[in-house]
Amino acid sequence: YSKMTGDLKVLTEDKQQSGTSYKAGLRQANNFGKDVHVVDMRSDTITRPSPEMRRAMAEAEVGDDVYAEDPTVLKLQKRVTEITGMEDSLFVSSGTMGNLIAVLAHCWERGSEIIIGDLSHIIKYEQGGASQFGGICLRTVKNKDDGTFDIEEMLSKVRDPVDIHNPITRLICIENTHNVCGGRVLPLEWIDQVVAVSTQRNIPVHVDGARLMNAAVHLNVPPSRLLRGCASVSICLSKGLGAPVGSVLSGSKTFIQRALRLRKSLGGGMRQVGILAAAGLLAVNNMVDRLADDHLHAKMIGEAINSMNSENMQVDMSALESNILMVETKRPLTPEDVAARLSQITEKESEELKEKIVVRCFGMTRTRMRITTHADLSRKDIEAAIRKLKYIIAEYDSVA
Ligand SMILES: *Cc1c(COP(=O)(O)O)cnc(C)c1O
Repeated sequence: YSKMTGDLKVLTEDKQQSGTSYKAGLRQANNFGKDVHVVDMRSDTITRPSPEMRRAMAEAEVGDDVYAEDPTVLKLQKRVTEITGMEDSLFVSSGTMGNLIAVLAHCWERGSEIIIGDLSHIIKYEQGGASQFGGICLRTVKNKDDGTFDIEEMLSKVRDPVDIHNPITRLICIENTHNVCGGRVLPLEWIDQVVAVSTQRNIPVHVDGARLMNAAVHLNVPPSRLLRGCASVSICLSKGLGAPVGSVLSGSKTFIQRALRLRKSLGGGMRQVGILAAAGLLAVNNMVDRLADDHLHAKMIGEAINSMNSENMQVDMSALESNILMVETKRPLTPEDVAARLSQITEKESEELKEKIVVRCFGMTRTRMRITTHADLSRKDIEAAIRKLKYIIAEYDSVA
């Protein structure tokens, strides 16, 4: 990169080599000056509770939730049960805990196996918790670009339970929207097909619905439609919905009873947790419709990048369905280079733009940089991010 742009004088930069990867992104300190407009697009998890949400939390009615006596938690669980169209729900501390409990509850017998996409969050970002804590085998099928996988391939991996050499296929997991695939929304027909063939074989389907509400908003259908015939779902409250903590797991009454026992054993039995559930309740009631703004913002950024007709950076707009934007970078440029440049302000840039803008994001794969839109970004923030992106694209293109 420095070969491409010469030695531009950098005014503001994270001294710990910012933005270059997820890990570096985490280390990145907020040490940009007061006059710097920072647009943080690393993740929708960075959203902070609004004043209204904080008020709801402060005023929440609470009780001991291990005794099932916290009225606010019960209210949240009831509300999410309505939304998912399932029988019962359980508030858990995180999406990772929701997925772990779901997988453990479905695979209660030793020698169990789950079939799952190779780019799924459960495989990539949850430390293999299912095997770590449950001794469960994870058998992967190849994820396609759109977050689905080939149903024939999936079926070829279902084990014959009569053959005593085999583990027993106990669960199929899908992810909606699909994070690593770029916030892709699973097609309804595909979900229906997975459910149909799995039901035939008596294998339940678990949905990692960390961003299920984004999928529902994109398709303009009720979330329950995305879950038709599915056995369980885990939904994050702390991403685009803006709550500070928590996920909710939904499923049958029997499943949730099992989940309740597992949650306690994992140390997830919390007490006056209505304080957190109050934020979640406000999130599912008031924060879903506005996800459309995040989707629009992602489109605006994608279109702005493509309007530069750059050889170096492009967005596949046909793959842009929700709040996760994948920017393709062309070698020798890497996603890490671009993310690092976005976190810098050069002297020349500051003079030409007459403002100081930093955009925070990170490289997700070898050729893709992830930008995430969310509730804490206003239209003004998005417009600033676009000015910065256009500026650095022009800079790259002028050297090439
Ligand atoms: C964020 C996320 C989770 C859970 O994450 P936590 O940080 O543990 O809440 C699970 N699945 C997907 C697809 C996610 O994006």
